[in-house]
Amino acid sequence: MKQLRIRIVGGSLAGLFAGNMLQQAGHDVRIYERSRDGLACRGAGLVGQSDLLHILRLIGCEHVARVGVVAKERIYLNQDGNIAQAVNMPQTQISWDVLFETVASRIAPETYFLDRDVVDVLDGENGAELVFGDGTRETADLVIGADGLGSVVRGAVNPKDNQNRYSGYVAWRGLIPEASLPTAAALLLDRFAFYVRPGVHALGYLVPGSKGEMDIGSRRYNWVWYRKVLPSELAGTFTNLDHRTYAFSLPRGGLSNERLQALHTDAAQMLPPQFALAVEAEPSPSIQGIFAYEAPRMIGRSIVLIGDAAFVARPHTAMGVSKAAGDVMALSNYLAFETDLRTALRQFEAERISVGREIVAYGRQLGASAI
Ligand SMILES: Cc1cc2nc3c(=O)[nH]c(=O)nc-3n(C[C@H](O)[C@H](O)[C@H](O)COP(=O)(O)OP(=O)(O)OC[C@H]3O[C@@H](n4cnc5c(N)ncnc54)[C@H](O)[C@@H]3O)c2cc1C
Repeated sequence: MKQLRIRIVGGSLAGLFAGNMLQQAGHDVRIYERSRDGLACRGAGLVGQSDLLHILRLIGCEHVARVGVVAKERIYLNQDGNIAQAVNMPQTQISWDVLFETVASRIAPETYFLDRDVVDVLDGENGAELVFGDGTRETADLVIGADGLGSVVRGAVNPKDNQNRYSGYVAWRGLIPEASLPTAAALLLDRFAFYVRPGVHALGYLVPGSKGEMDIGSRRYNWVWYRKVLPSELAGTFTNLDHRTYAFSLPRGGLSNERLQALHTDAAQMLPPQFALAVEAEPSPSIQGIFAYEAPRMIGRSIVLIGDAAFVARPHTAMGVSKAAGDVMALSNYLAFETDLRTALRQFEAERISVGREIVAYGRQLGASAI
């Protein structure tokens, strides 16, 4: 295909994968990210599925997959903290931060823009127009919506069905330096640990440090505690100390002391002692709402949705990043081999829409038995 003017909304992994592949292919690409300060050092770990490893090879970043921490086995704990079951199932948690920074470093810096909030997208036969929060506008041959769970671009493709569906529970999350995990919880280290009983689901694992550190003592412990929250209580759950209510989560630092104390009390009563200690060692937990979304269409006339903008699957699948990678590789292929943009987009959608649906369904199935 001839060189296209491509504008990507969202500068996280889906946007960066697309930026890399499409700049490599010679297109005129710019990436617009809403965050003011960037996304560096804000992630934890992820599982290296095959599509992720494949795209890393294509963009020359395969070394990133080696920056990870291996959990040698899975253990399932009883409430008293004894191991009920151990399964020999080694699994590596790759560093999200190192992945992000490496993939971002391959993008021409003058083409990645922070603090650019896209508030609307107008689709057209011969291109689409972006509208930014400051009122400025820009046209493109193709707009890629890589703007995640709260996607604005989604609305231009699916005006009648663009809302996420709440799944009935949230994930409380903590990410603490390995050294701050009390020795009484040392059983958790180097293992993928679970505590699962009806209505309660907690898990934890080591991830590299924020700069990719893998040495003993400089890694981080990541815990997740899934808890049911009624839809009517969701807004209160996502309201911070300054009375600001977030749509999908409560970022770190937003909890009052009373809420933190209540969390510790609940953890001591409901979780095995090792997990209760890990929860207590995190001064600023965050809360992530568990949502799902399936885009009825992934393409408009001059717009395409990728990653979480198109399909949001529950986190139990651990497939968010590899799904984004798969979307980008398919899109790049069709743009490379077709001469007509509309044909390329149709073929992309035909290939990826069923994959997205299957991953969302898989997440629903895992979630149903998870809590
Ligand atoms: C900071 C961060 C840390 C993460 N850490 C992990 C992790 O440790 N492990 C893991 O498995 N997954 C993590 N994820 C999620 C994972 O990266 C995604 O599920 C998956 O890669 C799909 O990514 P995405 O780019 O489609 O969506 P997202 O990662 O959600 O990115 C969407 C991006 O679009 C931007 N954006 C949204 N709206 C607009 C707008 N209107 N205008 C401009 N920009 C906009 C957002 O600021 C965000 O950067 C993290 C995501 C983020 C943003």
